[in-house]
Amino acid sequence: MDFELTDEQRMLQESVRRFANREISPHVARMDEEEVFVEELWDKAVELGFVGMGMPQEYGGTHTDYLSIGIMAEETSKVDPGVAVVFGAHTLLCGDNIARNGTDEQKAKYLPLLASGKMRGCMGLTEPEAGSDALSLRTRARKDGDEYVLNGSKTFISNAPIADVALIYATTDPSLGIHGLSAFIVEKDFPGYSRGKKFSKMGLRSSPTGEIVLEDCRVPEENLLGGTEGKGIKVMFSGLDIERFLWSCQAIGIAQAAFDAALKYSKERRQFSQPIFSFQMIQDKLANMLVEIEASRLLAYKGLSCWDRKDYRQTRMLAAMVKLYACEMVNRVTAEAVHIHGGYGYMKEFPVEKYMRDAKVYAIGAGTTEIQKLIIGGYLQG
Ligand SMILES: Cc1cc2nc3c(=O)[nH]c(=O)nc-3n(C[C@H](O)[C@H](O)[C@H](O)COP(=O)(O)OP(=O)(O)OC[C@H]3O[C@@H](n4cnc5c(N)ncnc54)[C@H](O)[C@@H]3O)c2cc1C
Repeated sequence: MDFELTDEQRMLQESVRRFANREISPHVARMDEEEVFVEELWDKAVELGFVGMGMPQEYGGTHTDYLSIGIMAEETSKVDPGVAVVFGAHTLLCGDNIARNGTDEQKAKYLPLLASGKMRGCMGLTEPEAGSDALSLRTRARKDGDEYVLNGSKTFISNAPIADVALIYATTDPSLGIHGLSAFIVEKDFPGYSRGKKFSKMGLRSSPTGEIVLEDCRVPEENLLGGTEGKGIKVMFSGLDIERFLWSCQAIGIAQAAFDAALKYSKERRQFSQPIFSFQMIQDKLANMLVEIEASRLLAYKGLSCWDRKDYRQTRMLAAMVKLYACEMVNRVTAEAVHIHGGYGYMKEFPVEKYMRDAKVYAIGAGTTEIQKLIIGGYLQG
């Protein structure tokens, strides 16, 4: 076992940290207040090669290991997790899925556009009536000559309001159940594709979230991901595993930022003529927070390292475990960080108020806490 990052990963960590502190940080308050994503961050990230992360180098991608994507997610989320979601939905949910499952033609057509940031991606699985029960999705894909005709709607989709291309899950044959599911690469300009409403959210407000509506949307048959019908379930499950690691790394980034803020504040704030840090009940909180963050990080890095070694024996279980633990942890840690700040923690002038709002969704998105317990329970049942 090697717990050290490579020199390259350490350099990446440093450069993402610099990018987040110099470029993202000045916009955080406005993005949160006005609920917008600042476009110049995309251009900067393109320059630095961050939007092509995880995509093969032959198609213009960078940092092709998964642990690097996790590091990027964690470091960005320390400053603004909404921005991390914008990059993650693009690189991982869309780009990485095409890289792992697409035909050579699909990869040659879409990956250079995604890796260079000329196209922005998203992934549409969730529907109004199919959330936790994602396999009951209703979006239909009917073959018509050399095209598929898609009908349905997707909701809560990260990047939907700003994406040029979406990876859409649909069923080609409902009678086949999960074996009738397929994924399609759908461009926003295909006839019948429209961006539905954009949602207003409690947290992650720099990450645009919206609907995708498909009304007789015509998709060329060569855009069936992988070229064979019925492969959607495999694509979906492997995509969800990797999404859960990424989502957990974002949670770890928020928690670390909340811990750092709470520790600093506890040494500055004086009550009863001493810093509140000197009270053992405050140290108790900080100690628990720190241990939980580090435990989450070890679990996430272990899972990502397994992916990088192509050792998939435990990755589904590890993805569920870290998603369960880290995404509950971030809620506990940010709530404690607010508490350590006392009344000031409840005020918008301190960052911990935002951390707590941003944290809430981590136990919901990418499969709720309850769903992760069901997955782990399924393994225990044998
Ligand atoms: C900010 C945000 C971004 C998102 N981004 C994307 C995206 O990019 N692409 C995408 O496809 N989706 C995305 N989602 C959707 C997300 O994956 C779903 O919200 C999530 O899977 C839960 O589905 P639901 O919201 O329909 O809740 P429901 O499934 O309706 O769940 C409601 C409650 O019931 C519980 N529950 C459900 N079933 C069970 C059960 N069997 N046992 C016990 N409890 C249960 C749940 O845990 C939850 O507490 C996003 C969501 C959010 C909030």
